[in-house]
Parts: sequence; structure tokens; C-alpha cells
Amino acid sequence: TKWVYGFGGGSADGDASMKNLLGGKGANLAEMSSLGLPVPPGFTITTEACVHYYSNGQSYPADLADQVKAGLAAVEGVVGKTFGDPTNPLLVSVRSGARASMPGMMDTVLNLGLNDETVEGLAALSGDRRFAFDSYRRFITMYSNVVLGLSHDDFEEVLDDHKDRLGLTVDTELAAEDWEKVVADYKAVVEDRLGRPFPQDPHDQLWGAIGAVFASWMNERAKFYRRMHDIPESWGTAVNVQSMVFGNMGETSATGVAFTRNPSTGEARLYGEFLINAQGEDVVAGIRTPQSLTRAGREEMGETAPSMEEAMPEVFAQFVDVVGTLERHYRDMQDIEFTVEQGRLWMLQTRNGKRTAKAALKIAVEMAADGVISRDEAVLRVDPSALDQLLHPTLDPDAPRTVVAHGLPASPGAATGKIVFDADEAERLNQLGDAVILVRDETSPEDIHGMHAARGIVTARGGMTSHAAVVARGMGRPCVSGAGEIRIDEKAGTFTVRGRTFKAGDVITIDGSKGEVMEGAVKMIEPELTGDFQTLMAWADGARRLKVRANAETPLDAKTARGFGAEGIGLCRTEHMFFDDERISAVREMILADDEAGRRAALAKIAPFQKADFVELFTIMAGLPVTVRLLDPPLHEFIPHSEAEIDALAAGSGLDAAKLKRRANELHETNPMLGHRGCRLGVAYPEIYEMQVRAILEAALEVKRASGRAPTPEIMHPLVAKGAEMKYLRELTDRTAEAVFEAAGDRVDYLVGTMIELPRAAIRADDLAEHAAFFSFGTNDLTQTTFGISRDDSGRFLQAYLDKGIFEHDPFVRLDQDGVGDLIRIATERGRKVRADVKLGICGEHGGDPSSIAFCEAAGLDYVSCSPYRVPIARLAAAQAAL
Ligand code: PEP
Ligand code: MG
Repeated sequence: TKWVYGFGGGSADGDASMKNLLGGKGANLAEMSSLGLPVPPGFTITTEACVHYYSNGQSYPADLADQVKAGLAAVEGVVGKTFGDPTNPLLVSVRSGARASMPGMMDTVLNLGLNDETVEGLAALSGDRRFAFDSYRRFITMYSNVVLGLSHDDFEEVLDDHKDRLGLTVDTELAAEDWEKVVADYKAVVEDRLGRPFPQDPHDQLWGAIGAVFASWMNERAKFYRRMHDIPESWGTAVNVQSMVFGNMGETSATGVAFTRNPSTGEARLYGEFLINAQGEDVVAGIRTPQSLTRAGREEMGETAPSMEEAMPEVFAQFVDVVGTLERHYRDMQDIEFTVEQGRLWMLQTRNGKRTAKAALKIAVEMAADGVISRDEAVLRVDPSALDQLLHPTLDPDAPRTVVAHGLPASPGAATGKIVFDADEAERLNQLGDAVILVRDETSPEDIHGMHAARGIVTARGGMTSHAAVVARGMGRPCVSGAGEIRIDEKAGTFTVRGRTFKAGDVITIDGSKGEVMEGAVKMIEPELTGDFQTLMAWADGARRLKVRANAETPLDAKTARGFGAEGIGLCRTEHMFFDDERISAVREMILADDEAGRRAALAKIAPFQKADFVELFTIMAGLPVTVRLLDPPLHEFIPHSEAEIDALAAGSGLDAAKLKRRANELHETNPMLGHRGCRLGVAYPEIYEMQVRAILEAALEVKRASGRAPTPEIMHPLVAKGAEMKYLRELTDRTAEAVFEAAGDRVDYLVGTMIELPRAAIRADDLAEHAAFFSFGTNDLTQTTFGISRDDSGRFLQAYLDKGIFEHDPFVRLDQDGVGDLIRIATERGRKVRADVKLGICGEHGGDPSSIAFCEAAGLDYVSCSPYRVPIARLAAAQAAL
């Protein structure tokens, strides 16, 4: 097996397409080398060698040592120096480089190959003794830290002592003999800590560094980073060994980083910084302030020190030429590291640069406009999830902050406000013009008005599909859910976290994109939907097959969704319409009624409200499909539970407290999510669904009369399991519809369909399709019922499953394509067998998740439906899935 791939001197064994084998860095070094760009020669040890290392009890492949030796010999040949030679030493850098960039996974080791002898060679060769010993002490520090596991502080202390002794403050003031003394003391530190001297054999040094890179693949930082970014552990990392070039060889030397375009705005102008007479880590360490690359950049920043363009115009001209070549070659914005050694330019790295969503849009649109990439490629270049950044206010990344608690990033965006613990109080303060953050153990439908009034929501319990999370995303409110460290004392009006207490009225800030709760107000930046956004979305719309609808029930949500380009409503959860102050009392009256006649009387009071809601929705969605789901939650959710709450309600409403208590007891269920809910309500109390069907169709008729344009409502029955159930519900719907049409002397088209939320419904989809014109996959419940995992309580154990690798993702966030996905495929196939044109959609939270949307495209669904604020994400993800 070939484990080692050389590069440099105008050629290379590998190329940019070999990222899997050579890692991103190694592949691009090879590519740059083949392009004839100035790359210090070196070699890459493959990711396969790392995989071999871990699958063979942390041992190297038998032939690796010989290949490394040969690789080193080739580098020596190109450079004309020899590794370990006391008079003409080759020095190398050793760096990790995985397939995906994992910044900060492992620190770099520079100047490797220096020892007590070669440092003299370097001094003689460079004619600069100070430089040689400065390099040696840097090497000892880095190597001791990265490979030998010693702390930087040990060395910092020694250096500080020397500076104190000499009365100096800045490193650059130390002379050659000072550095010599520092080196001697550094070596003593190593011997003292480890009981053995600092390794003097360059080959031992090299293998120590290679081993450290492989080991770093499994350190906690790397594991955490991989989990955050979905990088498989099985990939392994490559190791890049490259001959050193020095940016710290005096005033004609420098080191820097550059982006070919501005990574935060996307502006097409070279952007970056450099430091004269410095080595790479000095730029990062912030010891000296770097200078702008360009004159324009310097003037903009108001810097006095000359830019690279002014300080070294010739090298700068060459550099501009090289980065232009790189951007044209890779056809994307590049993030570049370079060094100038005594007036000579060297390229150390290039890769596609990370960028903000705003920059991603601008760069993609401009590159397509310039014909560098096609419009389809532009659409594929932007990460749909990143669009979230553009749709919500976000924290100013430079603003200082103190994080007091962590939870789940349940709904993106940031918000600042006063703490409130109660939904009514949230509403009251909001009306007074106060910004509030609602903090609760968990939320229920009764809190909706408070959630709407709040700028953001924090819950101590609950997962990514908890009530708080789903509703907050729907409303576009930032939400941190499941912040388990927070202990709420509602009576006292306080919460405590890590020994600190916050009172109602105290100001906090939350970041729903990160799951952070911060004290006080943190500075924000407002969203701005630029022309680039509109342009790219139009291209995306041209490329996609899937329709995108929104989950919305309020006029505000429906308008927001239209604004974001929703092509209809895929799920109107009618229960949310029951919670309005005026209606809830009629709803409760209905629940308390002793018989059908009593229920009908109460329902008659709700009907006009329902109808008015639907008139508004149909009007906003003129000409577009609107799927209305009939009542779904168990009835107990509409009445309070605790004795105190019941008494308060009775006192305020005139309802009978004893009766309320009895009814609450009767409605109590051990597993309400598997109990009397969904269409089971419609079967037990058909008058409820009849009222809703009537309201929907009367509203449709009214809109038809008023606008001359008839909506086509899609009436959807939740939690259906059996063909016979569907038949009953369809007949109920049709019978009610006929009565409405007869009374009105007019008709509209409508569809009757079902949600698929139970495994049985998916498996017997052919039975359901006999009576259902459409299926909408309710993947929240379908995930819950397929796994037998509660969507409300999974937060308690999910992390253990993720940590142990049993789940790769939260199945409530990313569709489980093998299990739940199989049920969707089965239902699609069986449903179509009976009804070829059965309309298919998804309305669970997965409808707004890009990877789940790709699944929906492959499964051949007709549309996805998601929260209003996810509509642009879904439009883009659907386009990418189709391309
Ligand atoms: C679902 O179950 O996926 C769904 C959309 O319905 P709800 O979340 O209201 O239960
Ligand atoms: Mg459901």
C-alpha cells in the first residue's frame, strides 16, 4: 500500500480530488504544487494509515517507516538540505489534516529537526544566531506542549523570569545570547517534568509528532467537534510533513492569511492580514497586531503601519496573481495561508473559505453572474440551514457576554428581555411595551399567548420537538429548551442556576441558535434580506420539484409564510385556535357538558370564531391549498389540573369547581399521547368534527362569494390507524359538507385526507387510500410511535444514546430514514397502488430539515410543510435535492 504521497518542486503524487485519502490540506498542497505554484516540498501520510493505526492496536503499517524515509529523502533532494545535518539542516512542520477541516483539533509543530547541533547549522546558514535560537525555543515549547503534553505556562514563566532579569518587556528585544539561555532553561524544564531530556534525535522527534497527530484524532476536542459537525470517526486524519520556510528571517520576511473575498460580507476584494518578521502562530496569538494586506484595507481600518501592498510591492503583485489563479482554479472563494521568506513567496495552504450566510449568497450569485459557476452550482453552494442566520436577529459576534446556562438550540435567533414566569404576565408586560423572555419548566398550549407576547422562550425541560420548541419555531421566536441546570421557583418568582439567582424582571439574553442563556442585554444585529437572497431563491425555485408549504394557523404566521414564499398551508393545527380568551370558555363548557345536546350548544358558540379564522386564512392563501387538521389533542389539555388553578378558574368564569375537578379526573390518562386524542375524539364526539367541517366549508363558500375565487380546503383527520376509521370519518365529512352546500345553495371542491402518524396507518395505507385523497406524514408522531419514544420526554435519555453512538442524530430532528423512512416508502407505494394520484406531503418538523427534505424528494412526495421561518430553507433544500 502507498501510505505516503509527496508534493513540491512543481509536481505531486496526489491532487485536489483525493481529499478522502490525503485530507483537505494535503490534497490542496498537492494540487497547488502541480499547478506550479510555490509550495514548500513535503509529503502527506494518508488517512488510511491513521485508520490502520486505530484498527491495529495503535500500531503503524509495517512499511510506513520506509515510505516516510523515502518521502523525506525526496524533500531533501528538492530543498538541497538534509534532515539532522549539523551544517545544512532540513527543518519541517508537522500538521494534521482531515477530510473536513477541523480547526483547533491539533496544534501545529513547527521547526521540527532542531537540536543542539542543528541549531548551530541554522545559525550559520541564516547568518542570524538570534533567529536560530528563537526558532529553537519556539520548537521546544510547541513540541513539549503538543507531543509531550507539557503546559505552555511552564515555559511562559521561564521567559518572563528572563525578561524581568533583563528589564525587557517585548520578546523581540531579546538578543541571541538571551535566547540561548532561555533554551537551556527550557530543556531543564522538560527534563525536570519528564525525567528525561528533550529528544535530540530528529527522527525520534518526527515520529513523536506523527504519533501525536494520530492521537489527536481521538482527543476530546476532536470528538466534540466531530459530533457537532457530523464527521464520522472512521475517517481518520492525514499527517502533513513539509519543509519549513521562515517568515521570521528579518524585514523582508512575513507571514499571513488571506481570503480572496470578504468572508463576512462576500465583497469581491482581497481581504486579510500579515505580519512582518513573524511566524504563523504570532498572527493567531495576538501578541502583535497584524496589518492589512491591501492599501485600501489599511485605509479603511485607519492603520498607520504599511500594508503588504505598500511594504513589499513586488511579492504582493506575485501574491495577487497566485490567489487569482487559485480562485479561478477552484472556482470558489479561497482561504489562504502564506509566508514570505527573504522576499520569496511560499503558499502553505488553500481551501474553500468558511463564510457567513450573507457572504455565501453574495459570492454564489456573483460567481454565477460572472459565468464562473452555473446557476445550479450557485444554488448548491449555499447551506440551507445557514439561511436561518439571515431570517432572525442575531447576537453581534463581537459583543461581550456571560453565559449562565446551556440548553438545546430549539429555535434560532436571539432575544433580550425581562424574565417572566407566567404567560398572562408576559402578555400584560408586552402590552405595556416591555420586551420579555418567558421562562418555564415546560410550555403547554395554554401558554401560547404568552409565548407570542414574549421575545424568546426558555424551558428547563423538553427536547427539540417539545411543545415549546415546535411552537417557538412556528412563531419565529428564539427558544432554548431543556436548560436542565435551571431550577425555577415560580412562587418566589426566581430561578437559580449554578448558585446564582435571577428574579422576575431581571434582564437576560438568549441565543436560540446556540442554546445559550446569558445575563443582561447583549448587542444584536438585525436581519436584512438582500437582493442576493431573492436572486438565489428564484434560481432555487426554478430548480425544485417539491412544493413547499407552511405549518400555520394564525393570520400573522400565514402572512409571514407567504412572505417567505410558502405555496399554501400544509398543516393548520385547529386546536391552537381554541385557546383564544373568548373561545376557551366555550371549549371548556363543551368539555364539561353532560350530554351531546350540551356539547352542541357549546360548539355553536365556537363555530363563528372558527369560521372567521378560516375566512382569514383562505383569503391570505388565495388560490393556494390549505390543509386544515381537525382537533387533535386530548381534551384534558384545555382544562387546568391543579386544585388551585381549578378554583381560580371557577371563581373567574362561573364554572362549577366540583364539576371541573371531576371532569379533570375523568379525563386523566396515563398515556395521553396514546389515548383519547386525534380522530378518536371525532369518533367519540362526532359533533366536534362536524362543527369544524361546517366552519371550514362555510368559510370557503364565503371567500368564494367575496372574491370570486373558490379555495379548495383539504380536510385532514389526525391519528387514523384503520381503513374503517377513515371510512367513518370520510362519510362524516361528506355528509356534513352536503348539508352545508344544500343550505348555501352553492358548493366548493374539497378533499378529505389523513395524516399518517401510526405504523399501522403506513402499513395499511392501501386501506386508507380507499377513502383518503391525500396523506400527510406527521413524522413527529410517526417517529414517536415507531420508536416508542416520547417526543416530550426523550430529552432525558437522548444524549446518552448520542454519546454512545446508538443514535447518530436526534430522530425528532432528522428523519430516521431506515425505520420511519421505510414506513413512508411503504405507505407511498401502497397508497398509490389504490389511488394513483393520492397527494403526498409531510408536515412533521422534519419538513423543514434539509436532509429529511432530500429523503422526501427521493421518496417522491409532492410537498413538504414546515414552520414559516423555515420556508426559505426548505425551498433551497428542495432545490438541492432535485439537482
Ligand atoms: C406530527 O405528528 O408530525 C404532526 C405534524 O402533528 P403534531 O405535531 O401536531 O402532533
Ligand atoms: Mg401529530
